[in-house]
Amino acid sequence: MPRRQCTDSAHMKAWLRHRFTWRGRGAVADDPTADRASMARAAAFMYASAASLSLIAVVPPNEPRVNELGIVLTALAAYAAVALFLVVFDRLPIWAFYVLVVVSISLVTLAIYFDGHSESSYALFYLWVTIYVFYFFSWAPAIAVMLLVGGAYAGVISIRETVAAGERWLLTVGTLLLLGALIGLLRRRMQGLVSRLADAASTDPLTELLNRRAFEAAFDSELERARRGSRRLALVVADLDHFKDVNDRLGHSRGDEVLVRTSGVLETGKRRIDTLARIGGEEFALLMPDSTESEALVATERLRNLVREALAAEDVAVTMSFGIANYPDQGQTADELLHAADRALYAAKELGRDRAVIYSAEVDDILTGSASWRLSHGQGHLATVISLAEALDVRDMGTRGHSQMAGRYAEAIARELGLTPERVERVRLAGVLHDVGKIGVPDAILHKAGPLDEEEWEDMRKHPVIGSRLVGGSELEDICAWILAHHERPDGRGFPKGLSADEIPLEAKIIAVADAWEAMTSDRVYRPALSEEAARTELMRCAGTGFDERVVEALLAIRDRATRSVAVG
Ligand code: GH3
Ligand code: MG
Ligand code: MG
Repeated sequence: MPRRQCTDSAHMKAWLRHRFTWRGRGAVADDPTADRASMARAAAFMYASAASLSLIAVVPPNEPRVNELGIVLTALAAYAAVALFLVVFDRLPIWAFYVLVVVSISLVTLAIYFDGHSESSYALFYLWVTIYVFYFFSWAPAIAVMLLVGGAYAGVISIRETVAAGERWLLTVGTLLLLGALIGLLRRRMQGLVSRLADAASTDPLTELLNRRAFEAAFDSELERARRGSRRLALVVADLDHFKDVNDRLGHSRGDEVLVRTSGVLETGKRRIDTLARIGGEEFALLMPDSTESEALVATERLRNLVREALAAEDVAVTMSFGIANYPDQGQTADELLHAADRALYAAKELGRDRAVIYSAEVDDILTGSASWRLSHGQGHLATVISLAEALDVRDMGTRGHSQMAGRYAEAIARELGLTPERVERVRLAGVLHDVGKIGVPDAILHKAGPLDEEEWEDMRKHPVIGSRLVGGSELEDICAWILAHHERPDGRGFPKGLSADEIPLEAKIIAVADAWEAMTSDRVYRPALSEEAARTELMRCAGTGFDERVVEALLAIRDRATRSVAVG
């Protein structure tokens, strides 16, 4: 079976190469004991050399006091240890190394004993042990080993006593300790240098963030972790807006300061488990493990505002745009995800900068169909936000369609009130988008069955503001304003501003009624739908205080016609 032999011998070669090639990570790892392969390799090498030297040294003629057999047996025991190191190799637990060091001290002591006199040159092998333990072990075990060496040596020379044994012991053990300390110090210094070099290779000198190379490595391992655990991973890329102008206006060194400031804000604003890097001149990347795109968007929105506020406080009006992509939905590999996030970032720039965009098919439409999208400027961003609104329905109510239904009711009311077709269409859109800001409301609050406490209400009341900010874009300002005001009440007790009846745009009043009607007449996880009759009674009860009277009347008229036609049909 020649093939079998061939694979066997290739396997054997690889096995041997692994054990005999000096290429351990020991010098780089912070803790040399972490690299068992190097420890086993070095120990095997030292044991084998010491045994071989002893065998050569014992070749006759010897003085009669030398116990040749004893030395040969000691050497054979050392070879047995070599075999053990080679077979078990890096699978040896760390305590086994301590045991084997004790064994080596015993073998050296035995060799001195069999050599028959206290000036035996075999004591030199203690030096090997010393170098080994001060290199691989930390200070405490290394010093413990030295105590053992001192004790063993004292024991053997007291048995084989000749002249000046005390002096010999003192000089030998003193030399060992000094050399050991030197080796230990040198090793630690080297380790410090190596880790500083490694840091320098992975850090951006200006901002001290990870550089692109280190980011790619971190990205690969985060992706691998997400893949293995079937978890999500969000990637955000960020780019300062019109940064060239900052350099032109304030000079390059002030530009550098802005970069440092920005990186500081991002660093303190991100979660501890997120990885931040500077991947280009004024480009940053952020990895967010275990985050959905909506969670990444909320976090990114926060960072965007932090950056803007921090730089405004320093009199540099610079903003930042963000692109978000999510594993596994928008890419499987690092390249695909980076590409998707870059596209989203580019879309954010196209849509007017100072915003965050999640990658989606619509984003590609914005970028590729440049001619057609420019005609309907803002529509691509809109499509992205609409997808988001639909995704939120699922989170909010466990079903798709709430936002679409609310949009339809809003459209019908707007038509009933005689708005122009163009305005009707925009009210429908606003109806679809009105709750998109709930992306910033925690699940626990959104799904709470009982009444909300004051703090929870505080969070809940933010959603019109977040929503209007998300939708915010050129040519969507009207919709933005309506979303912002859709929880205002004619009696002035609404939020976020507590506007009075005249101050609330009609479109916002329409959305409020459409939203309430949709909510009352559909099943929720925590309660069944109200009957048509009960919902009507509730709306009428609140007309004039919670809802605009004219708008309520319009909806009731629509419902009257609908129920009549059903009855007739
Ligand atoms: P945009 O909103 O489209 O991103 O506009 P921009 O001006 O930022 O355009 P672009 O990203 O193409 O330009 C990047 C500029 O960032 C070019 C360079 O002047 C500046 N820049 C890049 N790296 C550094 C740096 O290390 N220090 C400083 N001061 N400026 C840098
Ligand atoms: Mg830029
Ligand atoms: Mg750039």
